[in-house]
Amino acid sequence: MGATSGDTRLVARGSHVLAGEYLVLDNERLQRSLFLDGATVEARWVSDKELVCLAPRVVDCRGNRVGVPGGVAVSQTAFGVRLDPHQARPLLAGAEAVLMDWRPFDGTSHWGIRSPSFCYVVPLPDGRILAEETCLAGRPALSQHELASRLHHRLRVHGIEPPGQHDADVERVHIPMLPRPGARHGFGAAGREVNPISGYSVFSSLARADEVADCLANGQPWSSRTSAWRTQALESLLQLSPEAVVDLFDAFGRLSPGSQQAVLDPGTPDGPLLRGLTQQWMLMSGRNRLVGATARGLFQRGRS
Ligand SMILES: Cc1cc2nc3c(=O)[nH]c(=O)nc-3n(C[C@H](O)[C@H](O)[C@H](O)COP(=O)(O)OP(=O)(O)OC[C@H]3O[C@@H](n4cnc5c(N)ncnc54)[C@H](O)[C@@H]3O)c2cc1C
Repeated sequence: MGATSGDTRLVARGSHVLAGEYLVLDNERLQRSLFLDGATVEARWVSDKELVCLAPRVVDCRGNRVGVPGGVAVSQTAFGVRLDPHQARPLLAGAEAVLMDWRPFDGTSHWGIRSPSFCYVVPLPDGRILAEETCLAGRPALSQHELASRLHHRLRVHGIEPPGQHDADVERVHIPMLPRPGARHGFGAAGREVNPISGYSVFSSLARADEVADCLANGQPWSSRTSAWRTQALESLLQLSPEAVVDLFDAFGRLSPGSQQAVLDPGTPDGPLLRGLTQQWMLMSGRNRLVGATARGLFQRGRS
């Protein structure tokens, strides 16, 4: 169904092996495997206006289209290139995949006042390796130009000559981190299945798909929500200093697998989510910085 990595690491202050396997889905294979008997498929663009008139009940799965790159909505941005496995070896340093490498792109030991970005290095279903410089969340997020320049610098530091800018080999990413206001008919990234702290939604969308389909079939409403704690955690993250962001993810790497899952899965109820976030904070070396950032975030929210 895709490319699986058994030894996936997160690198911040130290290198942490993450439990379980990391899977990059092969979208076409996944789509081909879906059961569509009795369905009529029309592949075309659908406007907002047309969408609501299509049928008595409509599920909008058109992704999150809030904001534009460089706009004021909180977003994740990334610039990536596809490498041959032998080229990517120095970036992987023995791992099969690196979910996040928070070390500065230029080989220095600290970010200083620069907004941090991390490198994501994963095997793809076509056998190549995606290396992507990622701004986890920003308002505004780092630009494509800045991320491309950082990635090329990082590759050179590892002795890798950056590939040419052929469009097929390049990936440019812009993910809004918060749901679209009033996303009533939405599901997946168009709804509230996205985790605002990570931009991830695949696991929660797949986990909820049958439940939502059953509701539709039985004429029942379905609902999902974004936990206010996650929205607050994103706000706090935006307030952190560059070095505190690295501390925060080093602490994530040292959480138990269960707590990591609680933080990552948007479907986690508030109780276990708060336990996971608190444990992450307790493991931070500069935990007072997160308290300050959270207080500032709450204060700014109170004023707006
Ligand atoms: C590099 C990278 C790594 C990631 N890693 C992870 C991860 O580890 N875990 C995780 O859970 N998530 C991850 N994500 C995020 C994940 O890919 C998205 O959250 C997920 O793809 C959202 O799925 P979706 O189907 O809801 O929306 P989308 O994938 O955005 O799909 C929406 C679809 O609707 C189509 N569409 C849009 N507008 C219209 C229109 N007007 N008419 C018709 N069709 C339209 C689009 O063309 C697209 O095909 C990652 C993303 C990137 C880029």
